[in-house]
Amino acid sequence: MNVQERLEQSAFSSDGATLLIDGEWRRARSGETLDSLNPATLEIVGEVAAGNAEDVDDAVRAARVAFDERRWTKLPPPLRAKILHAIADRIEAAVDELAVNEVRENGMPLPMARGTILGGAQAFRYFAGWIGKIHGQTGEVSHGEQFFGYTTKEPIGVAALIVPWNGPFMMACHKVAPALAAGCTVVLKPAEDTSLNTLNLARITLEAGVPPGVLNVVTGLGSVVGAALVEHPDVDKVSFTGSTPVGRQIVRAAAGNFKRVTLELGGKSPVIVLDDADLAMTVPGVLNGIMANAGQACVAGSRLYAQRGIYDKLIQAVSDAAAKLIVGNGLHEGTQMGPVISQKQFDRIMGYVESGVSEGAELVTGGKRHGDAGFFIEPTILSRAPADATVVREEIFGPVLSAMPFDDLEWAIQQANNSRYGLAGGVYTSSLEKAHTVARAVKAGNFWINCHSVQDFWLPFGGYKESGWGRERGEMGLEAFLETKSVVARLY
Ligand code: NAP
Ligand code: MG
Repeated sequence: MNVQERLEQSAFSSDGATLLIDGEWRRARSGETLDSLNPATLEIVGEVAAGNAEDVDDAVRAARVAFDERRWTKLPPPLRAKILHAIADRIEAAVDELAVNEVRENGMPLPMARGTILGGAQAFRYFAGWIGKIHGQTGEVSHGEQFFGYTTKEPIGVAALIVPWNGPFMMACHKVAPALAAGCTVVLKPAEDTSLNTLNLARITLEAGVPPGVLNVVTGLGSVVGAALVEHPDVDKVSFTGSTPVGRQIVRAAAGNFKRVTLELGGKSPVIVLDDADLAMTVPGVLNGIMANAGQACVAGSRLYAQRGIYDKLIQAVSDAAAKLIVGNGLHEGTQMGPVISQKQFDRIMGYVESGVSEGAELVTGGKRHGDAGFFIEPTILSRAPADATVVREEIFGPVLSAMPFDDLEWAIQQANNSRYGLAGGVYTSSLEKAHTVARAVKAGNFWINCHSVQDFWLPFGGYKESGWGRERGEMGLEAFLETKSVVARLY
């Protein structure tokens, strides 16, 4: 089957009926729709319902009723686990179609899309394994032996899951899988730029046996649908991935009924390269650390601090490799870097490049639009940016690396921590001692030694400082959808 045939077979039969509420596909109450654009070709790939607060209310009510009726949690744990595995099976079986859809909406290269779709399936397998293993503790109670105490873990309730556009299918899976494993019911809000493939995920969960009302989807604008969800008094939990400013709004809105909140926000992750680093390992590590997904990754290694003895050689090698990256439509064979998501992001990133140069950085490679259609930006490297330059402080979320030389490791560590973010960091060195010294010193929730962005489901993921609240994945990721109850019984 060629790409076009695959697309025709897999395209979501979209007539704007993209709200999933209580197992039924509906149009928005207002009848309004939004177009979804291919960022490589600027073609419209589909339309989604522009939900509003009333649609959100319907979806939350459906999730509430499904939760209170225990439609999901009354199923025996082995059956719930089987359903999560069935979701993973269906994702894996449809990986080619889902990956093509992901490229059409997000722009990433097809092999990467396949990888992220399969990563979504793995999230369901990992969390399926937790179902039936969620447990509390028992213990003596100091008031006397006639007392007996134990704890149970219970699902928090209705969870609003708000996902961004930079890995839309996978990020939805990363939230839906632990929420379902914990026994929550869900209202999922995809990013307006990338909603269509998320609808395929929702369809798959229904086909795999998730009861109606357990997973609901409301498409539409963040400022409308997202805002209504986080303010809704009947939502018990918000799990959000996106920008720090919206994260801050969510915290304020959640205060209404003290929603439990997990936030995965931005980053400005430092990478420290010491003179003794192995260049063959470091060059691709640094390059992919920033250019993967056109720099639209929360853990992007966007600040490079390289020791003076290796600096020139490293910048030369990374720039040469960056200039050779094949930029283009993610569906074309051989493409290594796709477009950025939207005109808004394109303008924002180009503005940062200009500011870097005007604030004193040297443009080593890139810095321009690539081609004449689509939101393509050349892989860009800025060298010797002043420590307080905007490009060193702010998250760019594009294919732009800011590099700085250093002499003293202490200074580099201090600079690495001189950020309001603390999502990730990395070090390249052949010294075991230095590797672990830097790993210990950098204030970040994720850290890599001689590699970048290598992740696994059992490893908790999240940030220090303004990069977020709480952790996703692993046991902590499950815990984020659970409450703990302490019970004391008097036996006689
Ligand atoms: P964003 O506005 O934070 O979007 C993330 C999600 O939140 C989307 O689903 C969005 O919906 C929704 N949203 C927007 N406003 C909301 C509100 N008031 N209440 C509840 N939900 C709301 O991010 P963006 O504007 O798309 O991207 C801007 C910057 O955010 C990027 O340049 C990057 O720095 C950062 N970002 C970080 C990550 C990450 O992985 N940590 C991911 C994406 C973006 P709509 O899409 O419909 O607006
Ligand atoms: Mg937005």
